[in-house]
Amino acid sequence: MLFGAGGNIGLSVGADSVFVIDDQFAPLSEKIAAAIKKITDKPVQFVLNTHWHSDHTGGNENFAKGGALIIAHDNVKKRLSTEQFIEFLRAKEAPLPKIAQPVVTFSTDVTFHINGDEVYAFHMPKAHTDGDAIIHFRKSNVIHMGDIFFNGFYPFIDTSSGGSPEGVVAAADRVLAMADDATRIIPGHGPVSNKAELKIYRDMVATVNARVKKLAQEGKKLDEIIAAKPSAEYDERWGKGFIPTGRFIEMLMSAWAK
Ligand SMILES: [Zn+2]
Repeated sequence: MLFGAGGNIGLSVGADSVFVIDDQFAPLSEKIAAAIKKITDKPVQFVLNTHWHSDHTGGNENFAKGGALIIAHDNVKKRLSTEQFIEFLRAKEAPLPKIAQPVVTFSTDVTFHINGDEVYAFHMPKAHTDGDAIIHFRKSNVIHMGDIFFNGFYPFIDTSSGGSPEGVVAAADRVLAMADDATRIIPGHGPVSNKAELKIYRDMVATVNARVKKLAQEGKKLDEIIAAKPSAEYDERWGKGFIPTGRFIEMLMSAWAK
């Protein structure tokens, strides 16, 4: 795993080649390549994108030019090849050049037989976006969840890209069923984690979402829902990151306003 600016990078190195999960922003590609070079002389053969966001796909162009094959879910390819607008962040994203787009896409799942491991990537619909992949290194007992899991702060769920809070909870449940107490779980952002912490995160998202949903369905307005403090017991621990408390409620609300 490599930390940096942008989403956490997962790496598999071994006798065959280098398998990379997510590649942060383009200006970091040289740093990332240098960090990989410190570990192995083998080439980067595959780059798998957990989803389309630019802090996870920004290095695609550089790695593709270096000879890597870019892989992602079908919907990642669709979103990377057309202009996107992330409503919650009011962010317009230009399509990536052709060379930066996935060359191989999958609809449900795909397995890589590499470095003595079985690397199983599968799609979870309507989670952080509509194109999320979770990657399970079966022999190493490591799972990369991309931005379905923000470890330590409230998550961003991109409802304008087909994400949903209930999909995030469903994806967490799927990983909890696959993991054991020794499984290392890589979140999209935040430090490396485990099954017990993922369970706490999952319950937090499910609890706050259920409260916001109920209030929204009773016809309450956003400021009334924020005033009702539906996340009160979680704010101290989770509300100090990229998505502060009020914005988290607003984001959950956006899932029910559609
Ligand atoms: Zn993301």
